[in-house]
Amino acid sequence: MPSKLFGQIEYLKGVGSARGEKYRKLGINSPYELIYHIPRAYLDFRTHVPVCQAPLNEYSVLKLTIFRKLPPQRIRGGLVICKAAASDGRDDILIVIYNNVYGFQALKEGETYYMYGKVSGNLLRREITAPVHIRADEKILIQPVYRLTQGLSVSMVRTNMRQALNLLHDESIETLPENILSRHGLSPLGWALENIHFPESEAASETARKRLAFDELLKLQLGMSMMKSRSRRNTAFKMDENVDYQEFERNLPFEMTEDQQKAVREIIADMCRDVPMNRLLQGDVGSGKTAVAAAACYFAAKNGAQAALMAPTEILATQHFRTLEGFLEPFGVKVCLLTGSLTAKKKAAVREQIEQGEIDVIVGTHAIIQKDVNYKSLALVITDEQHRFGVAQRAALAEKGNSPHKLVMSATPIPRTLALIIYGDLDISAITQLPKGRSPVETYAVTGKLRSRAFGFVRKKLDEGRQAYVVCPMIEDSESDLFAVKSYAENAANGDLKGYSTALLHGRMSAAEKDRTMKKFREGEIQVLICTTVVEVGVDVPNAAVMVIENAERFGLSQLHQLRGRVGRGQHESSCILITDNTSEECVKRMKIMSSTTDGFKISEEDLKMRGPGDFFGSAQHGLPPLKIADIACNMELMSMAQSCAKELLSADPTLSRPEHKALKMEVLRLFEKDITG
Ligand code: ADP
Ligand code: MG
Repeated sequence: MPSKLFGQIEYLKGVGSARGEKYRKLGINSPYELIYHIPRAYLDFRTHVPVCQAPLNEYSVLKLTIFRKLPPQRIRGGLVICKAAASDGRDDILIVIYNNVYGFQALKEGETYYMYGKVSGNLLRREITAPVHIRADEKILIQPVYRLTQGLSVSMVRTNMRQALNLLHDESIETLPENILSRHGLSPLGWALENIHFPESEAASETARKRLAFDELLKLQLGMSMMKSRSRRNTAFKMDENVDYQEFERNLPFEMTEDQQKAVREIIADMCRDVPMNRLLQGDVGSGKTAVAAAACYFAAKNGAQAALMAPTEILATQHFRTLEGFLEPFGVKVCLLTGSLTAKKKAAVREQIEQGEIDVIVGTHAIIQKDVNYKSLALVITDEQHRFGVAQRAALAEKGNSPHKLVMSATPIPRTLALIIYGDLDISAITQLPKGRSPVETYAVTGKLRSRAFGFVRKKLDEGRQAYVVCPMIEDSESDLFAVKSYAENAANGDLKGYSTALLHGRMSAAEKDRTMKKFREGEIQVLICTTVVEVGVDVPNAAVMVIENAERFGLSQLHQLRGRVGRGQHESSCILITDNTSEECVKRMKIMSSTTDGFKISEEDLKMRGPGDFFGSAQHGLPPLKIADIACNMELMSMAQSCAKELLSADPTLSRPEHKALKMEVLRLFEKDITG
């Protein structure tokens, strides 16, 4: 059994508790985790230049022989400077190393090295600062570069990496059967790990990367499938299709759009079958997903069962509670709110009612999936803005009932092909139209010079009875020049918004404070909300018709779209003003896209193109475990390879229990570890 590999990182020679701490800071606890600290780049020592040809103030590789080491100098602030004189055979150069006596000691007089560093000075006197070096007789000339932390140098990591990799030779670590490797042209795992760190050639590092990316995607697929099949085994709560639902729709204050009606029909049909529903409801911001969710809850309640709706923030949970209460209580459907910030007494009372079945619809944050919440007959589980939740949190809610129906509502519309990958075998309902009477949000991008004119416009809207949001990226002033809500609110109250009622909303306020503020804003007592991105997701105040976003360059396209989605939710004409002084090509492009379209699907596609898939698929977007090597969208082909491989493996061995799959199963569990335990 692999042991040293999975033991403490301190097992490695030269790693004491101090360096161990540094490693832990990087999330590396064991030699195994060190091995999966994949290089972010490589340094190629194969091409070096003579000293006289090294461009000044740039990084170069030089081949230098040290002829004299000078004693280290201690200067103020505990800083130590080490210097050595060296030559490339023609010209001399001074090597300067800061604060790394240990590294300096390793350099020997008379020895020749390849050194990589920034060359500075003038024609007569040159220096190379803090060089990364290897001995000139070193065989491996392509050296890895790692993400580091203060006090951990690249040469320390490399030395430890070598030791960790040597441990592999003692262990059999291959996770995939030979036939899969050969069929997909994948290299053996041991070889791949060796060559991702110390590649023989560029081609070798590419081949290694392919194997590791494949592994990651395969583990992802296996983990997702295993979780899904775990929740599919049980029987569902089959509902009665004869239960009347029309009454609900007739009593809504508006007429549902065709897409909404279709989504409701699909959901009801799903819930009347004896396998659990597994459906994704995609819809652009403001398309009315909540009403669809309410319809589903109504149908479940009329079937005598309970429904739960989980939202990612307290603000949103509270809002949904109010909305659902308004829609459902007239029909005698009991709705309650359960969030972390209720008093213990209140929580206990609510839990009791849930257990007794006195409550039909439970709305809340992740408080509703805690162990001490027992549902009497939970038949429908809805998660809103679901990308905010981890896979396991969703699974935990799904496991509450006797295999309930599941509906996930996505805030970020994504292209269908990608949705299929991320959500696997979910069925998809899409709302593509906005309710009648909505006009698209007029969007303008301006520079700070036009700020006061922008506020003139805001005041005009306020005077017409509308409300506004002003979004800033920060809460408090910092060294950056970014706007912060606290000082911004003060300035605005004495300046641009003098005489209007304003209030702050940000993530460091208590839940009760946030709730009070949102209530006042909803009721119109507050005219302008000066806020951070806490309003990004889901907040619904139809009378708000203007949004100003400061430092718009700080936000990605999808985020801007979400923010903008807070206005244009009623019949009023709405506007969004993006303020930025950033003139980079990328920022200008983003602003152009925002001003030219309000179609969320289009925007997410552009976002994907511009940001690159790695970022777009950052785990915050979808709740999947973070991927270190693979880029889902970049590696589409590899992804489908992994998909078919996963299918094949699971059809032969659904729980990966066979001895030859044991190592692979361990790996899957490890990837999903945080989700499964957390
Ligand atoms: P989202 O899809 O972004 O979650 P919401 O469910 O919050 O959108 O709905 C946005 C607003 O539109 C709400 O104020 C809601 O009452 C309203 N709404 C929903 N459906 C309709 C409709 N068919 N006609 C008019 N207004 C609607
Ligand atoms: Mg919503």
